[in-house]
Amino acid sequence: MSPELVTEICVVGGGPAGAAIARQLALLGHQVCLVEKAAFPRAHIGESLPPSILPVLDLLDLRPVVESAGFCRPQSAFIRWSTHLPFEKPYEPEAGLLVDRGRFDQLLLEAAQTTGVTLLQPAAAGRPTTQGQNQWTLPVRTPEGKTTIKAQFLINATGKHSGFDRQVKHHAVTTLALYGYWHDTAFQPGESFVEAGANEWFWGAALPDGSFNAAVFLAAERYAAARPHQRTAWYRSLLAQAPLLKGCLEGHLSRSVQVCDASFYLAPDPIGPDWLKVGDAAFAIDPLSAQGVQMALLSALQGGIAAHTLLTQPAKTEAVCSFYRHKIQETVTRSKTAAAYFYAAQNIYPASPFWQQRSQPPAVSQPAQWPQNTRLFELSDRIRLSPSAQLITTPVIQNNAIELIPALYHPSLESPMAYLGDVEMAALLELVTPGQTILELVQQWRRQHDLSMCWQILQWCWGQDILVLAAALVPPTSLPTVPSQPQLL
Ligand SMILES: Cc1cc2nc3c(=O)[nH]c(=O)nc-3n(C[C@H](O)[C@H](O)[C@H](O)COP(=O)(O)OP(=O)(O)OC[C@H]3O[C@@H](n4cnc5c(N)ncnc54)[C@H](O)[C@@H]3O)c2cc1C
Repeated sequence: MSPELVTEICVVGGGPAGAAIARQLALLGHQVCLVEKAAFPRAHIGESLPPSILPVLDLLDLRPVVESAGFCRPQSAFIRWSTHLPFEKPYEPEAGLLVDRGRFDQLLLEAAQTTGVTLLQPAAAGRPTTQGQNQWTLPVRTPEGKTTIKAQFLINATGKHSGFDRQVKHHAVTTLALYGYWHDTAFQPGESFVEAGANEWFWGAALPDGSFNAAVFLAAERYAAARPHQRTAWYRSLLAQAPLLKGCLEGHLSRSVQVCDASFYLAPDPIGPDWLKVGDAAFAIDPLSAQGVQMALLSALQGGIAAHTLLTQPAKTEAVCSFYRHKIQETVTRSKTAAAYFYAAQNIYPASPFWQQRSQPPAVSQPAQWPQNTRLFELSDRIRLSPSAQLITTPVIQNNAIELIPALYHPSLESPMAYLGDVEMAALLELVTPGQTILELVQQWRRQHDLSMCWQILQWCWGQDILVLAAALVPPTSLPTVPSQPQLL
């Protein structure tokens, strides 16, 4: 084992997030070393991947690798949640995936290796130290001995439970998962189930190898209070209360029952000038959405572009960090809101504290309720940009880097809008001259876009009150103030 390995980027952790970001950065021309402590294939929970993961795999150019692996492609899942009667929920717009995570993660890691990523595996990275910006040192332990990695940029992709960064993870609401793999059940590979219990919920799926993973999600306090000496017996007694899943009790458990933390988590900060966190190391969402892998891959995609920009254009550090923080926050807020909505939809059992606590949507500042402009316009109407609309600079992804470009700010928008479809909004709105007619404006826009596109944008701007009548009087007190820092950026 060589005593020292020098690399530009060191990725610690070879799960979906680590493998995807390492591959992306190698494709962008960087020298990448990935350190993974487990020998693959290794077991990992998180086998159900809904169809919404497929566009993310497309963006990472990993879909062919995954689709050719022969994993199960479920068309639907059986849900018992809002009524006692289960219903079959079809996956749309196409089938999802039920994978063996050991194999899935190995495929992604192999895809990273084919792009030139140097892989140290099995190799456990110890606590990193820094001698100054872009000067990281990591001790690494391998079966052959100890080594040291020196890197300019450090990516933490160690998942949720590694303790690599020694950060204490605080949870407002703590959830535990008890799960086990069953054999010789009557379930067919690809079948999956979600069902509510009185103070817990259940998830089960028949995996490609024919085993059935049955998981119970419950409050950590309940598990602590019950102190089940006989964990397996307790787990079995919970499953016996789940009409859709309890068929697995006729089979036999192939491994001991596992307990793991399944709480929501958000790292205090996911990025700095020479480091970032991706996947579960940055945030963990409620497993009810079954989108943990998808969101880990999405953060790898965004994080890869952030790391590439930090390394190639350090002058943009502030904008890049703000962009990545915003993206992580956006993902977490959307996931929390969706999970709260699903918990609130549970309608079989009374709203016990378990259900109530998880039904609370996150407190976020909502875009202002802005009345839609329903008045029809005339081509001869004289218009101007609304006093509430402004063009501000915002970071966006362009050509695999983060660029600062002008975007439309309006209080009714969730965040500044740089593009409407493929159209750069600022380029069109900069052409608006106060007092010109709608016809004159459309004639100007026509030089850049076809008539139907100009028409769609005009209607959207009119309906959203971005373009208003030049004569419209807006009482000064009703004007909202534009925040100096755009919201959520
Ligand atoms: C109970 C439960 C059920 C879930 N169900 C689903 C589901 O159905 N669908 C879904 O999409 N998601 C699900 N998830 C979430 C999903 O499993 C995770 O979001 C996903 O695995 C995150 O990927 P990652 O690459 O960030 O981390 P991980 O997959 O955890 O990978 C981290 C890697 O880092 C390595 N590592 C850690 N420390 C070190 C170190 N010091 N040195 C070197 N290597 C290190 C580990 O060995 C590991 O391979 C579930 C989660 C839980 C808790």
